[in-house]
Parts: sequence; structure tokens; C-alpha cells
Amino acid sequence: MIDISFEINGRKVSPRNIGSALESAFVESLQQSITKAVGSARCPEHDQKPKIKVKGRNLDSLNFEVSGCCEQLIENVKKKLK
Ligand SMILES: [Zn+2]
Repeated sequence: MIDISFEINGRKVSPRNIGSALESAFVESLQQSITKAVGSARCPEHDQKPKIKVKGRNLDSLNFEVSGCCEQLIENVKKKLK
């Protein structure tokens, strides 16, 4: 499993602590679709998994921040997220 975290309006959230059931369902489904898209991504050179942070002021304006051991992995993951 890859590491996916959410930060909304400066606050770290997860489907468990986000508040409303609607938001929780939204975050959970986003988490699932990210996992589906990049869950198997791994750097062939360093054998590392990427980390993804989903960040935004609110759930309607989210950006992905990808971090990993090298540019190639990050680019690869970004492509898959589009
Ligand atoms: Zn690498």
C-alpha cells in the first residue's frame, strides 16, 4: 500500500476524523481511486514507493503533492494521477 495523506485547509484529515459522513465518503473514494491508479507504482531503481499528499483549502480544490526517491518516480506517478 502506498502512503496517501490528506490535508484540508491546513488540517490533517482521514476518512475517520474528517467530520461529516459525506466528506468521509468523498475522501475514502478518492483514496481508493488513487490507490487504484498508482498503488503498484514503485521505483525500479531504488525499490521505493511514492508518497502522495492531497492538499487543498477545501474538498473542491484539491492538489496532489507527490514525493519519492527520485524525479523519475514522481513524474511517473503524476502521469498516472491525471
Ligand atoms: Zn528512485
